[in-house]
Amino acid sequence: MKVIIIGAGMGGLSAGIALKRIGYDVEIYEQVLEIRPVGAAISVWSNGVKCLNYLGLERETAALGGQMDSMAYMDGHTGEVMTQFSLQPLVEAVGQRPYPVSRAALQFMLMDAFGRDRIHLGMKLTQVHDDGQQVTATFADGSTATGDLLIGADGTHSTVRAHVLGSQPERRYAGYVNWNGLVDIDERIAPATQWTTFVGEGKRVSVMPIAGGRFYFFFDVPLPTGLPNDRATYPALLGEYFKGWAEPVQRLIGQIDPQTTNRVEIHDIEPFMQFARGRVALLGDAGHSTTPDIGQGGCAAMEDAVVLAIALQTNTLGVEDALVRYQNKRNERTAELVLRARRRCDVTHAKDPEVTQRWYEELRREDGSNVIRGIISNIEGNPLG
Ligand SMILES: Cc1cc2nc3c(=O)[nH]c(=O)nc-3n(C[C@H](O)[C@H](O)[C@H](O)COP(=O)(O)OP(=O)(O)OC[C@H]3O[C@@H](n4cnc5c(N)ncnc54)[C@H](O)[C@@H]3O)c2cc1C
Repeated sequence: MKVIIIGAGMGGLSAGIALKRIGYDVEIYEQVLEIRPVGAAISVWSNGVKCLNYLGLERETAALGGQMDSMAYMDGHTGEVMTQFSLQPLVEAVGQRPYPVSRAALQFMLMDAFGRDRIHLGMKLTQVHDDGQQVTATFADGSTATGDLLIGADGTHSTVRAHVLGSQPERRYAGYVNWNGLVDIDERIAPATQWTTFVGEGKRVSVMPIAGGRFYFFFDVPLPTGLPNDRATYPALLGEYFKGWAEPVQRLIGQIDPQTTNRVEIHDIEPFMQFARGRVALLGDAGHSTTPDIGQGGCAAMEDAVVLAIALQTNTLGVEDALVRYQNKRNERTAELVLRARRRCDVTHAKDPEVTQRWYEELRREDGSNVIRGIISNIEGNPLG
């Protein structure tokens, strides 16, 4: 069985590894000439780690993962602890540690596991044609590739999505801008093994540890879309947005390197249920584009990869049938994750300032059990239990 995958992000690569493991002949086509992941790091929650373990990457993933033992929310202005608790109950409840990891390291691990010789760079898909027997992908340079099925793992701006749905849904601006990057761990900012988040005014400043003695940091600020973006201004802008905030926040702003800091206007797409049409299926952000507020977009892409391979391996009525079974196992779960992230996004970023204020008050009374219950409920429902 010949499989064409469009997109060498974490979804496409995970699918490639999963399908190769069941004996399929897989080629991945990627539009960029050099893979440079957008975003500095990512929290791979326990469901995502389980998928990587299932793909045979348990040791490699653990080696990339930061030691994240506890979690804390701090008052952004005063720096006071609002709540602080161990993540051990979470690990025991779900059976696997979560790992914050460098995106570049994750990407390279997946590329090596799949096999770089089968990743074709500089190949931008422009058109999909499914004749009922085979699928043909046409690329911007006029070349084509033909396979028994095609997986659109081409991200939030997916071209394959328009083929599957017959139209292209609009992306929805979620109302805030995120800056993210890496700095060396500095205990004057936060404890080295803690995921620490400073909150106030619907804004967020967060650090979490990844391997190599580094913190993944991000700043969220509710802002209109389309503001000018000049990286040289990032430290000064963040200094303004977080004026008067606690000393660790000022220290972090002082340490960021604008040249390696990413700025992202956060969007999602209203969930839809169709992930398959004929011999073509969507996977990852192409099928369910989410805000990052529960850290589940990439994890869900890896879940898709595992379910897709199982659906193709275990059903024998044909490719079209297996792809519909894959779709039906994934669409409700991923829609739920997108909508949960959107609700979390609205509370965190002061869509209604009174609701956000109530959340801050709840955090001061929190002993960790409600936050952990929320994270567990995102992880439960994953295909690996
Ligand atoms: C700020 C931020 C923080 C996040 N944090 C987390 C987190 O902590 N945990 C988590 O699980 N998720 C997180 N996410 C979400 C996560 O990044 C995405 O869900 C994930 O990258 C989706 O993977 P993907 O493979 O579907 O798409 P992508 O990673 O976007 O990959 C798609 C690939 O397809 C290629 N492509 C696109 N169009 C074409 C074409 N026409 N032809 C050929 N190739 C094409 C692109 O170049 C790209 O390489 C975050 C997202 C953001 C923005």
